[in-house]
Amino acid sequence: MADIIQLLPDHVANQIAAGEVVQRPASVVKELMENAIDAEATAIKLIVKEAGKTLIQVIDNGKGMSATDARLSFERHATSKIRSAEDLFSLHTKGFRGEALASIAAIAHIELKTKQPQDELGTQITIEGSEVSSQEFVVTPEGTSIAVKNLFFNIPARRNFLKSNTVELRHIIDEFHRVSLAHPNIAFIMYHNGSESFNLPESNYRQRVVNIFGGRTNEKLVPVDEETEVLKISGFVGKPEFAKKTKSEQFFFVNHRFIKSPYLNHAINAAFEGLMKDGCHPSYFLNLTVDPKSIDINIHPTKTEIKFEDEHTLYAILRSSVKHSLGQFNIAPVLDFERDTNLDTPYNYKDKNASTPFVEVNRDFNPFSDEKSAKVFSSVSYKKESAPWESLYVGMESKGTRDLKDFSEMEFESDHQTESIFSGDTQSETSQTTYQLHNKYIVSTIKSGMLLIDQHRAHQRVLYESLLKSLTVKEGISQQLLFPFKLEFTATELPILQQLKTDLESTGFVFSKIENDSVEIMGTPINVSENEISNILQQLIADVQQEIPDSHFSATDLLAKSMAKSMAIKNGQSLSKLEQEHLVNSLFACKESAVSPTNRTTFITMSVADMDKKFM
Ligand code: ADP
Ligand code: MG
Repeated sequence: MADIIQLLPDHVANQIAAGEVVQRPASVVKELMENAIDAEATAIKLIVKEAGKTLIQVIDNGKGMSATDARLSFERHATSKIRSAEDLFSLHTKGFRGEALASIAAIAHIELKTKQPQDELGTQITIEGSEVSSQEFVVTPEGTSIAVKNLFFNIPARRNFLKSNTVELRHIIDEFHRVSLAHPNIAFIMYHNGSESFNLPESNYRQRVVNIFGGRTNEKLVPVDEETEVLKISGFVGKPEFAKKTKSEQFFFVNHRFIKSPYLNHAINAAFEGLMKDGCHPSYFLNLTVDPKSIDINIHPTKTEIKFEDEHTLYAILRSSVKHSLGQFNIAPVLDFERDTNLDTPYNYKDKNASTPFVEVNRDFNPFSDEKSAKVFSSVSYKKESAPWESLYVGMESKGTRDLKDFSEMEFESDHQTESIFSGDTQSETSQTTYQLHNKYIVSTIKSGMLLIDQHRAHQRVLYESLLKSLTVKEGISQQLLFPFKLEFTATELPILQQLKTDLESTGFVFSKIENDSVEIMGTPINVSENEISNILQQLIADVQQEIPDSHFSATDLLAKSMAKSMAIKNGQSLSKLEQEHLVNSLFACKESAVSPTNRTTFITMSVADMDKKFM
């Protein structure tokens, strides 16, 4: 029988191999950008049309190729990057297989222009399905430009297999992010269908992350830096409160190469343990530097997986250094004791001249003596030109709900007595009605004993009911900002804001424009200071993202809860006597004073009988 084995012609072999290297347009983007980096470019431009289906072009200012090399570069296993098998173990380049250009050339139309610095003229080569159709000298800038057109033109099945432009573009952007994050010292620009999608100047790593993921990212980054004998780690993790519902912000780079490693990812999750909400994923942008000898990147053709010599050690180091960073930057628990919001100047007072304080003392004043005076404390501060401290609390206008008379009418579960719980006359004699404990609890005497209020939860309840009211009657009053300011949001966050816009306006927000990546704020609810706005809106977006799968989702209720949570006075904040009393009064004017909007106890009581028992 005759021999039947034949060697496949190159162009067939190339087409088969191309299937491995080039799965979709994004694979071409990756290969071309990596070649530009290997050529030591300092600026790289990516031009894409129709999600890469009609054009992918990468222009670099790297070292270029000679005419011979330009021709050779499209041959299979043609590489300038390794010479022997040993070189594989000290790899400092992205490429080394010499397959990419040959594979791409087998399945697309290619136009290459390249020039080395020392040459007068450059080379231009056109290739269609592995066939060189022309080669000539051209005038071209230093560096290389490779345009890949009509991908899979000769493999209709593959072409039809491509996903929608949105999906393919998403993959391209992912690759672009990975490559540009791994090389902040290189400038990158990306255009899609003629418009600029990213413009990333050469920068440090933090700026690169921020330039890609938006201005607001900056505040959420916690640096991680660690150097041991086997491993150097640098980069950032995101603060837990900014964690995403998706894994879109998780990046490991090993020796400047993006890798996927479920194992190392686990190490990060372990470091975040106890700090993350369910269903959230920490953001991380981490660069690991290891001895090239200790890794094997040869196990996967598209090279996103990697084998480490000593994975267990890496795991332990990674976990502990991330944990250390989170601890060092006081992430756990997240409490802001630093700033006293009482010291913030409300906007409308900012530019006013100081006037001599005028103090009028009403010596007969007793906040609990009758309905009228009690109302002074509980009335809604939205409504009048009030002292700044008053705007700290938004009480409930008690019309139609429950009239706040005085404490003597409040009933407590543990209060078995039917008469007044405050010891009536003795109150007016002792001015000491409330006392703040550890800047956290407010202690007050009631007739049956003692009342202990959690200031943060109590204020949440007060704000919540007030906000709900503003939202339903749409009467929120706004303070106009003298200097409107912009806040930046990501593409996923903006639609959520857009959706809540009307409700937010009912609470007193005024937005002038909602643009591509930012929102201009012209006015805020009257009792909110400017520097809290970003936090309030971010918290709100996160809460909405968290809640949407829940069918009972009510935008109004969620908004009120979320804003109340962000705006409420924090534990750790010291309150004046008047503020304490006002808070207590406002709390008991609420419809449901016993629990916070999230159903947590706002106050407890202890009767004299209970105390007596303790002293038995
Ligand atoms: P590899 O990157 O694995 O070496 P490629 O097929 O991607 O294989 O590229 C083949 C060769 O072509 C490279 O080794 C390099 O010498 C040369 N080359 C490719 N792209 C460029 C570029 N943008 N600038 C300079 N040389 C390049
Ligand atoms: Mg390559």
